[in-house]
Amino acid sequence: MTKPRVWLPTSFAEAWACKQAFGDSACYVAGSTWLQLRAASGDAVPSEWICVDDIADEDRAPVEADDALQVGLRVTLAEAIRSSAVRRRWPHLHQMCRFVGAPALREQATLIGNLAAQGDLVPYLLVSQASLLAWNEGAMEEKSVSEWLNSRDTAADVLITRLNIPKESERVRYFVRKVGRRAGFQPALVTIAASLEVDDACTVGALRVAVGGGAHWPHRLPKVEALARGERLRPSLLRELHHMIQSEMWTYDDAFATSEYRRVVVANLVTAFVASALEEG
Ligand SMILES: Cc1cc2nc3c(=O)[nH]c(=O)nc-3n(C[C@H](O)[C@H](O)[C@H](O)COP(=O)(O)OP(=O)(O)OC[C@H]3O[C@@H](n4cnc5c(N)ncnc54)[C@H](O)[C@@H]3O)c2cc1C
Repeated sequence: MTKPRVWLPTSFAEAWACKQAFGDSACYVAGSTWLQLRAASGDAVPSEWICVDDIADEDRAPVEADDALQVGLRVTLAEAIRSSAVRRRWPHLHQMCRFVGAPALREQATLIGNLAAQGDLVPYLLVSQASLLAWNEGAMEEKSVSEWLNSRDTAADVLITRLNIPKESERVRYFVRKVGRRAGFQPALVTIAASLEVDDACTVGALRVAVGGGAHWPHRLPKVEALARGERLRPSLLRELHHMIQSEMWTYDDAFATSEYRRVVVANLVTAFVASALEEG
């Protein structure tokens, strides 16, 4: 790889203007861990790196405000893990951050970089209904993470400035799991997040399920979610969910696992999570 030229804008507007000026030859850079991994794997990466490090007034730690966690574009995974607010009120985000890479990498890698690289955090962000603020055409836009994923191809110049992650509710059960080939760092075979709201009569208020990790395009499973909504938890519903997860999930074959294996793993784990609510009453 030829050495990239590094740009150090001091404001969102300047960073965005820089991206406009260089177009596809430029990209935003946070911790640069993903970009360096791509370069080391022989993938083409842009030659102009617009680094977000010097942008003024940006917090390095996540901030709790109005029942949401605000994560700026310089917040690293390690800072999120060290935050006592995240540990206490976003315990599943805390767990997910620890699933990414090794400790040294997490000191450098950011949450927003992980989102933009469609990393392991995205299923959790989809299930928790996180939103983001992005600088585009001289103005700030707010979008859900899911809307942003769907508009990605047309919004390549957009600078993500902040993630807003709603507080985990005590009335909601959460499930997160990165499925890999062995304990040390490996890209995920698949990463899963789910949340479930049930009332005292075991009727489902809402089930949310998202998959991602590895080479998956992170996505929710709306048919699975609709199948459970308003239904009483019962063994026949669990069987239907198991079947629907396998038919709705988009996945792929590679040298390490077949698509069928990935589908069965996700169906088993999500169904077991839903079943645990039935067992616990
Ligand atoms: C050894 C190793 C192990 C890894 N393990 C994992 C793993 O287990 N799980 C995992 O998910 N990932 C893993 N990664 C990939 C990567 O480290 C993470 O996804 C990380 O969170 C990316 O964050 P970053 O700040 O380094 O992003 P960068 O590399 O700086 O950027 C990533 C992408 O985000 C874009 N971007 C950055 N900031 C912005 C912004 N503000 N607005 C818009 N776009 C932006 C960049 O242009 C780029 O496309 C690993 C990488 C390495 C090298």
